[in-house]
This record gives sequence, C-alpha cells and structure tokens, in this order.
Amino acid sequence: QPPPAAAHAHLSKGVENLVIIGSGPAGYTAAIYAARANLKPVVFEGYQVGGVPGGQLMTTTEVENFPGFPDGITGPDLMDKMRKQAERWGAELHQEDVEFVNVKSRPFVIRSSDREVKCHSVIIATGATAKRLRLPREDEFWSRGISACAICDGASPLFKGQVLAVVGGGDTATEEAIYLTKYARHVHLLVRKNQLRASKAMQDRVLNNPNITVHFNTEAADVVSNTKGQMSGIQLKRTDTGEESVLEVKGLFYGIGHTPNSQLLQGQIDLDDAGYILVEEGTAKTSVDGVFAAGDVQDHEWRQAVTAAGSGCVAALSVERYLVAND
Ligand code: FAD
Repeated sequence: QPPPAAAHAHLSKGVENLVIIGSGPAGYTAAIYAARANLKPVVFEGYQVGGVPGGQLMTTTEVENFPGFPDGITGPDLMDKMRKQAERWGAELHQEDVEFVNVKSRPFVIRSSDREVKCHSVIIATGATAKRLRLPREDEFWSRGISACAICDGASPLFKGQVLAVVGGGDTATEEAIYLTKYARHVHLLVRKNQLRASKAMQDRVLNNPNITVHFNTEAADVVSNTKGQMSGIQLKRTDTGEESVLEVKGLFYGIGHTPNSQLLQGQIDLDDAGYILVEEGTAKTSVDGVFAAGDVQDHEWRQAVTAAGSGCVAALSVERYLVAND
C-alpha cells in the first residue's frame, strides 16, 4: 500500500536524472559511475539487511575474492569504502527504504517514508535474500558455521578440511555440495524429500561422488555446539519417522535458494517465475525504457559482489546513454 502522496509534498523536487534503489555493490558502483558522469544520482540505500545500508556483505566477515584486496577485507569495510567513494563524487544518499514505485507513467515516481522523487531513469539494485531455515540457533551461528554461499566461504579456514553439511535437494544445493568437496574432508547433503529435485546430470554427479553422502527424508532441526561455543554438529530429524540424531559437522551450508527483492516492481516490469527482474541479455535494460536493473535482483546464477558491481557499472553507463538519446 503506497504511503499518501501529500505526506511527502514538502520534500518533492524537480525531476532528477536518476534514482538508484539499493546500497550493495551494484547500487554503490552504479552511484560512483553516475555521479562521476555528473548525473547527480539520488540513492535510496535502504536498511533491509541488518538495519544498515551496504547490503548482504554487511552480514559477513572476510571477503577474500574481491579484486584489489590481496589480504582480504571485511564485508562492512568493503561496503564502507564503496559508500564513501559514491559520496565523494556527489551521489545523494538517503538511508531510507523505498516503499512505492511508479514506472508506468513519466516522469517515474519513487517514494520513501520521508520523500518523493520524480526521475527520468531508475536503477533497481535491491539484491536478493538467501532463504533461511530459521533454526532456533541460526542467528547465533550465522557466518560462524552457517553460510549461504559455498563459493564465498568454502575455502575459509573455518571450513577447510572439515566435515560439512549442505541443506537442499535442487540444483543450488547439489552444486554447493560438489563445490565444497574441493575443500572439505567430506560433505553430507540433507534432503527433506525422498528424492533430489536437481537436474539428472547433477543428481548423477552427487550420487556417484564418494565424498558426498546423501541423506534422504532428513532435515536439519538445529545447531549443536561444543563447550567452546563452536558448531560441532547438527541435530537431524527424519521427515518420515520423526527419529532424531546428531551429525558431527563443522559447517552448514544453505542451498535452498534466494528471494529476489523485486516486490516493488511487481506488475510494472517483467519478472521471471522466481521473481528475478528480466533484463535483455548482456545489458541492464528491463522491459520498461529508462528502468535498468543490476546485481542479484536480476542474477539468479552468479550472485557475487564483483558481478553485482560489474552490472552496476553497466547499468549506470546505460543510463548515461539513455538520457543522452532521450534529451
Ligand atoms: P545486495 O548486497 O543484496 O544489496 C541490496 C541492497 O538493496 C541492500 O542495501 C538493501 O537494503 C537494499 N534494498 C532492498 N530493498 C530496498 C528498498 N525497498 N528500498 C531501498 N533499498 C532497498 N560475494 C562475494 O563475491 N564474495 C563473498 O565473500 C561473499 N560473501 C557473502 C557472504 C554472505 C553471508 C552473503 C549473504 C553473501 C555473500 N556474497 C559474497 C554475495 C554478495 O554479497 C552478493 O552477491 C552481493 O552483495 C549482491 O549485491 P547487490 O548490490 O546486488 O545486492
């Protein structure tokens, strides 16, 4: 339900060149490029992830694979640097969530609880949220044993050489399990149903891999810790018999998918069945002229900070071209 327009009237301005929604690597990179191109972008940073701007990397510790940081950098430090860089070039940052968007008529209208902005172009960089199991001790062990990204965390000292578990039965979970065998001593795949949903090829790879044990009809019920407070195992529950047991592992990876944060645009631009924003291949263009998308909200495949940043750059350069062409 959109907030009433009258509440924002005092903060309304003329028509801005560009509004960027989101403050992850995609949003800040787009802001840096657009600000350097003198477009004076207005950025709604949001605070949906952990109540602060910066997106998903604010919830992690070390980022070891972002180029330029040979010794790694913490997620919050990396995002702080991106934020400062955007600010330095003149991006107008607002720590507010966008609550309403209208891209059906022009100029476009973007509204938060504090202001309404009219604009000629929009970059949607609202990211995606990893689905969680909501285990009783999940928050306690998030990034301290529980991860939603094998590529990001598999090689970290916390998991290297350890016995690990992956939850899920689809392509994401099977890919994570196979990826983790590069580093782990052994990988257990926990599947709620009595079969895998993954493609036949992925099923064969998992079932024939001696370093992966598949547990059908099994769900993770909670984390078990040792006297030092570290993860030492997972409480398992059989979905057919209800029988409970403990599996000794040092890490638990969620491979149960992501939810793209595209609800604001529902019914206004084309989304795929899972809610990811559809962009023209190799571009940031959505189904509405002047609306561009970048980062995880349009990427169900790679979901990395550097790919999000790259697509943020493409989106900002595309906006520049679009504004020149429509001047
Ligand atoms: P996000 O980072 O998801 O940011 C989206 C932003 O949009 C957020 O700031 C959010 O508040 C904002 N937003 C959402 N809705 C609204 C709204 N209505 N109004 C305003 N703002 C809104 N990748 C790596 O490359 N290396 C790693 O080591 C790594 N580690 C990770 C560890 C964890 C725990 C997680 C969860 C992810 C990790 N990733 C890593 C993946 C990486 O974080 C993402 O691929 C990347 O952050 C995606 O960037 P993004 O800009 O698309 O979106």
